[in-house]
Amino acid sequence: MVLDALTLMFVSTALCLLTAVLVGYVRTGFPRPYRRMLRYWAQALLLQGLGWLGFLFQGVASGLVAVVLANTLLVLGTQRIGHAIHLFFDRPLPWRRDLSMAVATVVWLMLCHWVWPVFSARVIGVTVAVTWPLVAAILLFVRHARRPWPTSYRVVVAFLAAPALVLWLRALNQVVGTPVDTMVAVHPAQIALHMVAAFTPVATALGFALMVATRLHDDLREVAHTDPLTGLANRRRVEGLARPWIDDPQAPLSAMMIDVDHFKRVNDRFGHDAGDEALVWLGSHLRVQARATDLVGRLGGEEFVMLLPGTTALEAAVLAERLRATVAAVPMSFVDHGEWPLTISIGVAARTPGDTDVRDLLRRADDAMYAAKRGGRNRVVVAD
Ligand code: GH3
Ligand code: MG
Ligand code: MG
Repeated sequence: MVLDALTLMFVSTALCLLTAVLVGYVRTGFPRPYRRMLRYWAQALLLQGLGWLGFLFQGVASGLVAVVLANTLLVLGTQRIGHAIHLFFDRPLPWRRDLSMAVATVVWLMLCHWVWPVFSARVIGVTVAVTWPLVAAILLFVRHARRPWPTSYRVVVAFLAAPALVLWLRALNQVVGTPVDTMVAVHPAQIALHMVAAFTPVATALGFALMVATRLHDDLREVAHTDPLTGLANRRRVEGLARPWIDDPQAPLSAMMIDVDHFKRVNDRFGHDAGDEALVWLGSHLRVQARATDLVGRLGGEEFVMLLPGTTALEAAVLAERLRATVAAVPMSFVDHGEWPLTISIGVAARTPGDTDVRDLLRRADDAMYAAKRGGRNRVVVAD
């Protein structure tokens, strides 16, 4: 089988354009914030596809089309890939850098075509202009991607690095090896470039679509584990995060159930919005008082929970008493209403060897909390 340059360039053109259409179509199935990134990727593939199409017309079309325009489209396409990745990591788009690079590319290509027709000069210029956004995009992953990198991130980075590497090897070959003199030269460096150009568009596009899908999944999971009113962990996250703590019977673990006293009266007197305001305030108060290792959650209604790893019942009781006292010390003041003497009742329990599920622990803390209610509210009760 002979892999000639023209065939490979035809494959690049066809795959870029086909993948552009597919990404553009797949994008419609994603929620709005993700669609823009995929649209950029589709545009990038379109620009690159048209660039390769220009190369196919070498010797037929004018130098302006087959050299200047084709290479510029490739550079613009690569920049657009960078834009999609910038959007993904919520970074401002590097317009100024890319615009100046694009203008410099056009000027350089015109010089290399009409004034100083040296293929090596063109190769090195295009290599700089194409690899710059690729390397910048890879650096975004290094700086901003969550760790460990999901597999889709690795695929995209690998297939962004491959063309950059091959381009630089080709540029290096121009200086130290037998130089390539045309885009259709039968030369390992040129064929290697055509190979990566032919096969990376599909791999990166698939990888990026999976990156976006992974992000969507992460975002939905975050929503499913967060209480929308207070931003605290909800019951699902509390139980999920507590599992490994329960499974390690050596380390002490305590829990606090915290319930607002006569909360119904707040709603009855000031309205539901004021009630919400009180819950938000209490949620942030608990979070501020908690240590970094503690888990604060809202189980529903006006019931909060704190899980305290590495904490004995006695230490938890001290913290609970401090929480109770700080809440009771100052009346809650509402934005549109007056003040209200908010108090909380807290039940404290420590994990016992018999606890196999966090719900066992929470049940005892809950019983202690109800004992605090029965005892007159605004107090802390520690489970036996
Ligand atoms: P106790 O001291 O016995 O705990 O009395 P309480 O009034 O706090 O308890 P009760 O369970 O009778 O009432 C809880 C109230 O919390 C009833 C419900 O309207 C209110 N509530 C539950 N969830 C929310 C919410 O998300 N926002 C607001 N504003 N109120 C809520
Ligand atoms: Mg209550
Ligand atoms: Mg309650």
